[in-house]
Amino acid sequence: MVVVMKATATEDDIEHVEEKVREAGGEAFVSRGKSRTIIGLVGDTARFTGMPIQTYAGVDHVILIGKPYKMVARELHPVPTTVKVGPTAVGRESFNVIAGPCAVESGEQAMLAAKAAVEAGATILRGGAYKPRTSPYSFQGLGQRGLEILAECRAETGLPVVTEVIESRDVEHVAEVADCLQIGTRNMQNFALLKEVGQSQKPVLLKRGLSATVEEWLMAAEYVAQRGNSEIILCERGIRTFETATRNTLDLAGMVVAQNESHLPVIVDPSHATGQHELVAPMARAALAAGADGVMLDVHHAPTEALCDGAQALTPDELAGNPAGQGASTGHGDLPPANALHRHAIQGQVHRERARIRGRHEHEEVGPASRRQRVSSGAPVGTPPHIAIHAMAKSLCSYHTGFRPCAWPI
Ligand code: PEP
Ligand code: MN
Repeated sequence: MVVVMKATATEDDIEHVEEKVREAGGEAFVSRGKSRTIIGLVGDTARFTGMPIQTYAGVDHVILIGKPYKMVARELHPVPTTVKVGPTAVGRESFNVIAGPCAVESGEQAMLAAKAAVEAGATILRGGAYKPRTSPYSFQGLGQRGLEILAECRAETGLPVVTEVIESRDVEHVAEVADCLQIGTRNMQNFALLKEVGQSQKPVLLKRGLSATVEEWLMAAEYVAQRGNSEIILCERGIRTFETATRNTLDLAGMVVAQNESHLPVIVDPSHATGQHELVAPMARAALAAGADGVMLDVHHAPTEALCDGAQALTPDELAGNPAGQGASTGHGDLPPANALHRHAIQGQVHRERARIRGRHEHEEVGPASRRQRVSSGAPVGTPPHIAIHAMAKSLCSYHTGFRPCAWPI
């Protein structure tokens, strides 16, 4: 951090800043220019940012150098984090599909969605028992009964569960059922709630606030991490812009920035981002191509009957990658969200990639070189085969779109 003094600043003003910095446990380096003096601050920046330095006499402005977030910053932790949600690993080495109902409406409805999810190849079940809504008159979720239903769906399908928590006082009992606690867009800056989930032992899926910058989103993640919980998955779910053609504007570039800036996994929710089921598959594919670590998709067996967000829900058929009903072409060919999303990325290309890796291995000694090679193909030594395939799919996607997905070590 650098403090720039006014041209009129006195020696006393400069000494006052130095003194305050020393009191905060830092060091101040004064550099006197012809017309202005600047003071470089070295030490714990978090402590300095909490000080009202701008208000000190003689101070013109303060320049922050470096990131306002540290614990989640890639700068200080270059190795990407893998977050375990139940048995599912979410991170740069896999592409996970999270699927399920927007809201748990009944045992039957949730079970149909959960079965569709597992059959389509999803690895985590989503579903809201507590629903934050734009209108207070809308369905608010089944609460405790919703959690019980989610537990039944997990028992039946084996999928770990991510579900939203909307109030601090609910964190403990939601965490008893959830494998991952979701913080929704409307609560991204609810610091009381962030503190609470930061003290929980369960991983956190932190959705981007609908008007939040990437920096604010990462600051919210930092808040959770500072309370002791670094098991955080970021989720880009669209932001509010002037555009009204889609529910929100999917900021895929923001997803990539978040991946570059932080070591946390970043996934994309094309359902909430677009609000329209026919846009979900194309945007899911775009997320995969851009290097996202997964997608989260709404599913409903009868979207027109849904109590929540029916317009953006995929039917079980659509989720499995089957055409959207007889003659209902969207112009995007077969919709490949879950299983098919993997297939789509993998088809044929994995064989080529395997051949490429095999080819290299044949010419290389077994040992550090081939180990490096496997790492560079996106599949670290010891990675289970199905994860390795997803990893390859991700790196292959980059070949086919002609650019490197961020942070993906090809
Ligand atoms: C949800 O995922 O159910 C949800 C409410 O999403 P968001 O917070 O992104 O609106
Ligand atoms: Mn929803």
